[in-house]
Amino acid sequence: IERNPNEPEFHQAVTEVLNSLEPVMADHPEYQDAKLIERICEPERQILFRVPWVDDQGEVQINRGFRVEFNSALGPFKGGLRFHPSVNLGVVKFLGFEQIFKNALTGLPIGGGKGGADFDPKGKSDGEIMRFCQSFMTELYRYIGADTDVPAGDIGVGQREIGLLFGQYKRITNRYENGVVTGKQLQWGGARGRQEATGYGAVYFLQEMLGAHRKKLKGKKVVVSGTGNVAVFAMEKAVELGAKVVACSDSDGYVHDANGLDVELVKQIKQVEKGRIRDYPKRSKGKAEYQSDGSIWQVACDVAMPCATQNELGEDDAQALIDNKVMAVVEGANMPCTPEAIQAFSDAKVLFGPGKAANAGGVAMSAMEMQQNAARESWSFDYSIEQLQQVMREIHQSCFDTAKQYDRKGDYVFGANAAGFRQVADAMLAFGVI
Ligand code: NDP
Repeated sequence: IERNPNEPEFHQAVTEVLNSLEPVMADHPEYQDAKLIERICEPERQILFRVPWVDDQGEVQINRGFRVEFNSALGPFKGGLRFHPSVNLGVVKFLGFEQIFKNALTGLPIGGGKGGADFDPKGKSDGEIMRFCQSFMTELYRYIGADTDVPAGDIGVGQREIGLLFGQYKRITNRYENGVVTGKQLQWGGARGRQEATGYGAVYFLQEMLGAHRKKLKGKKVVVSGTGNVAVFAMEKAVELGAKVVACSDSDGYVHDANGLDVELVKQIKQVEKGRIRDYPKRSKGKAEYQSDGSIWQVACDVAMPCATQNELGEDDAQALIDNKVMAVVEGANMPCTPEAIQAFSDAKVLFGPGKAANAGGVAMSAMEMQQNAARESWSFDYSIEQLQQVMREIHQSCFDTAKQYDRKGDYVFGANAAGFRQVADAMLAFGVI
């Protein structure tokens, strides 16, 4: 904490992982001798830079850009870019740290990193977004490469921004190295199924978790927070597998329909029209209600999937879910549940799938996008989704088995942290003190 002041999100992420690792460290004195914990908590490289750009009024604006290259023991640094006013070094470090273990869990050759800027894309014109992305890449291009560091999207960075970023990269470097970013459009090297991968993957993880505990998803009531990329595809897959999605939200409020929401309409409003979820009730044929205050977690459900942002589900929310007899909670977002909420779920024996395992489908598909780019191949949608499902099955199994091995059966937080850490630790040991 003294070494990294004013980075509460980073402290929270590290504390959660370190709390899990005690039995693993006790089993592996060689990890202790090599000071692996101390080394893993220190990013290999952190880049902070100025991003100057000119707005539509001709005024100069200045933002701060970040790229934290956290750990490359298993492969090139890999992780998204987030454009949001809340982005600061602590947030990028928390995301980068989580990414190391998540990427390790996929079993694919990718290290961990994360980046972004404190730029708010909301309300910006297309021209402003383009000038911002070009300025951002004019600095970032020095540090990235298909074998070095491969950024992707995150909150505020979608296919459009990835296109603008790659366009500038290509122009500056004179290299059509499309494996340098992922989350691309299909026409120039994108992977089929990437958009769907995180949300679908989280539901596949949920399905495995329920199956391992002799429970079924079919017929269950699901609440999903957010209506962004992760949330809408989680809803889509949950409905496809026979569940009923009864509530979803955006940053202004939530909609609730006990008979189930029309996911196509949610997608139309939020993804296509870029509108607000408050408009859902008047456009739906059902009996949906919109709430601008109160918590979405008050809505009774069997499964809760927080898919919006960090620390969106606190202790009171967890208690409300437990009182309503929630059966499983799966994190689609990164660190959406506070430590107190996770503890409450654990005390109440609610099945809990942590983000670093459950939302790893997106980065797994990104690694497969890199694989396709390197081989100059393009996989079909069905094949890609089959591969995704297989990866999620393996992630679940490895968390499950690791927890069992340490007599913590059903503790997926422990299983994910321990399994991810061991992968990275063994590679770091092999490389010596670097
Ligand atoms: P998007 O920007 O597409 O969507 C975020 C959604 O969350 C929006 O609907 C937004 O509402 C809503 N939201 C933001 N803040 C709040 C809040 N405080 N309360 C309620 N709703 C809120 O992001 P993604 O879906 O891509 O990412 C969501 C989370 O998943 C993030 O934590 C991200 O890091 C993580 N993640 C994403 C992956 C991906 O592949 N996209 C991969 C792995 C993790 P509004 O529409 O009002 O802005």
